[in-house]
Amino acid sequence: MSEKTYHETSDQSADPLEADLVNRLGLLEISDIGLFKECITDGRFQWVNENFSAMLGYSSPAQLIAQNLGLSRFANPKHFDTFWQELNDRGRITSFEMDIEPFNGDTRRLQVCAAMLPEGDRLAGMAIDISRHHQVARSLKESEARLRLFIEHTPAPIAMFDAQMRYIAFSRRWVVDYRLGHETLIGKCHYDVFGSIPQKWKEEHQRCLSGEVIDNEEEPFQRTDGTMDWVRRKIYPWRDTNGNIGGLILFTEVITDQVQIKEKLRESEAKYRKLVENATDAIFIAQDESIKFPNRKALQILGYEGEAPEKISFAEYIHPEDRNMVLDIHRKRLSGVRDLPTTYSFRITNRKGVLYVLQLSAVVIEWEGRLATLNFVRDITEQKRLEKSLQQAHKMDAIGTLAGGIAHDFNNILMGIQGHASLMLLDVFPSSPFYAHLKGIENYVRSAAELTSQLLGFARGGKYQVIPLDLNQLVDESAQLFGRTKKEISIHKNLDAGLWAVEVDQNQIEQVLFNIYVNAWQAMPSGGSLYLQTGNAVLDDCYVKPFQVTPGRYAKITITDTGVGMDKTTQEKIFEPFFTTRAMGHGTGLGMASAYGIIKNHNGIINVYSEKGKGTTFSIYLPASARLVSSGKEKEPGPLTGEETILLVDDESLILDVGMQMLKKLGYTVHVAESGMRALELYERYGQQIGLVILDMIMPGMNGGDTYDHLKRLNPNIKVLLSSGYSINGDASTILDRGCSGFIQKPFNLMELSQKIREILDTQT
Ligand code: ADP
Ligand code: MG
Repeated sequence: MSEKTYHETSDQSADPLEADLVNRLGLLEISDIGLFKECITDGRFQWVNENFSAMLGYSSPAQLIAQNLGLSRFANPKHFDTFWQELNDRGRITSFEMDIEPFNGDTRRLQVCAAMLPEGDRLAGMAIDISRHHQVARSLKESEARLRLFIEHTPAPIAMFDAQMRYIAFSRRWVVDYRLGHETLIGKCHYDVFGSIPQKWKEEHQRCLSGEVIDNEEEPFQRTDGTMDWVRRKIYPWRDTNGNIGGLILFTEVITDQVQIKEKLRESEAKYRKLVENATDAIFIAQDESIKFPNRKALQILGYEGEAPEKISFAEYIHPEDRNMVLDIHRKRLSGVRDLPTTYSFRITNRKGVLYVLQLSAVVIEWEGRLATLNFVRDITEQKRLEKSLQQAHKMDAIGTLAGGIAHDFNNILMGIQGHASLMLLDVFPSSPFYAHLKGIENYVRSAAELTSQLLGFARGGKYQVIPLDLNQLVDESAQLFGRTKKEISIHKNLDAGLWAVEVDQNQIEQVLFNIYVNAWQAMPSGGSLYLQTGNAVLDDCYVKPFQVTPGRYAKITITDTGVGMDKTTQEKIFEPFFTTRAMGHGTGLGMASAYGIIKNHNGIINVYSEKGKGTTFSIYLPASARLVSSGKEKEPGPLTGEETILLVDDESLILDVGMQMLKKLGYTVHVAESGMRALELYERYGQQIGLVILDMIMPGMNGGDTYDHLKRLNPNIKVLLSSGYSINGDASTILDRGCSGFIQKPFNLMELSQKIREILDTQT
């Protein structure tokens, strides 16, 4: 501290008061207090201490005094005006804060006390430099304002509380989200503001006040008005400068919208899941060669029950023959190759060993961030089976038409041979050397006719004599007959006493049974068992579809042998004509073909099921009839002659020729017509004399059926004997139903013909 503690201007007086003041103030020289005296008339400092001159930026009081300046020169003019005003009003002023502009340097803030001295034109004052404090206070205020702004505008509901849960600060969103209105919350207790704070939350606040941080995810919150909201809450304690917990900060978020969206999403996901789960197609994702997200149908096809397993291999169950094709398409699809089939079919053998034919449609999608295929798979196993059966049926139809055509022509030739042989036999005595030859010819014709009749049977040869029949009796009798000749086979019967009656051609059904018996016998060269069973069956739409018959009631016969059985290919071809596995000359391959044709023509179904080495089962279904069973067939023996006139109608000149000769031999007068038209002409002319028309069924132009209808119009009581090698789609039986008198199958011999003719002509109408 310098010796010289104060300085005076030249007009410094020796005022004792002043001296006293200076002396007393001199004590203050050691503190940071600036002192000054100013003459207010000329506005110049008269005296200052060293601190004061330093405050104004001068190195010494002398330097400042020398400037001849006063306080107003340095003070902020506004501040000075107020200062001056107050001073004038009261004569003194305490703690007035005033900014001053020092001679050099930054603005300073001084706290000034001043008083007018008794002389009247002097002012004495004291100043403390409070710039530092002022600065601190200002920045504090600024930062507080910033913080308040920050909290206020935080886009989330936030509030700060003291330890008594009174509001210290809060964000605007707090007020908005909790619909609190505009009154200020500061100082109010949180629990008074919200009447509905649950006890659990209050406990959490207490825990937080003892230092815990609370973090709750999703909670329901009921407002005082009863409405519900969902909130997420985080609570932190805050500490004062001493490190004591002063209260807590609540960060909350009203997430009702989010929760509702989430809930909606969950609902819609559940809906989609339901859709996928209940789809009748299998749906799954294929990625990394494994099956993901399989629906119920997919699991079912794969042979899983209940929950989906961790990992299902995509390739594992695919049939080995189809595997490469499927995987190849799958990989190509994933690598973006175009022109791949969107749908294709393949086979799988599932976990349980069940074979499925599947049809797959796939599209590429993104699944869990990577490429995958979304697959829709339809089970077409049954459809394929039906298709195959239908194809088989169509093939059999085509073969039938072909075989039928040949057999028909061939039969007419046989008829010719038979006719000539019959005629010759009439003129030859049994002692003649030709007699045996002619009989031989007849025998050969008969066995050839048997062949053609089987072939015609296959080609839907017509049900000629349809009567209601008990199949049990038929099976029983045929089995007895067969069993008598084949002792090495034991026959087991299980016949349903309540079996529905059927309307069938007995001879034909017998032939079917015998064909099957013979095959069974051949399949069991060292003996075995034959099981015969009958029963009723009701077949539904789906079952009968590939067989093109009507659904409904059927009588069923199953015939099972314990023979060698057949492989698949044999089973597929068994009903084709001329299909045989037997050595040359040992099988005609017509047995099953004719059985097929006959059953088909009866609107029935014949099936084969066989396993190689185990045996074979044939199932025959015949439509049940409402009509009662009659006593069966009856045959009238005897070669008979007559004198009536007969009109013979046939398009084959061979038949006309031989037929006319046969009839003449029998004593009849004969007219022949080579077509339906001609037959009508002749009948119109000679109708009065004609007792019987023998009418061929299949003719070009007007066929047998139409001719019959025309004849019937000319004479409603006309007698017509229908003759045919076969009929298509049961034509013969419909004509018989229309009132035709009888039917004779070609080739016929003289004896048969004579009997049929008499049967009709001797019947009274
Ligand atoms: P064929 O007996 O003249 O060969 P079929 O039409 O009766 O002609 O039979 C065709 C083929 O079906 C037979 O050659 C045989 O291979 C097979 N077959 C038919 N029935 C049986 C059976 N019960 N067991 C094993 N194979 C059979
Ligand atoms: Mg056979």
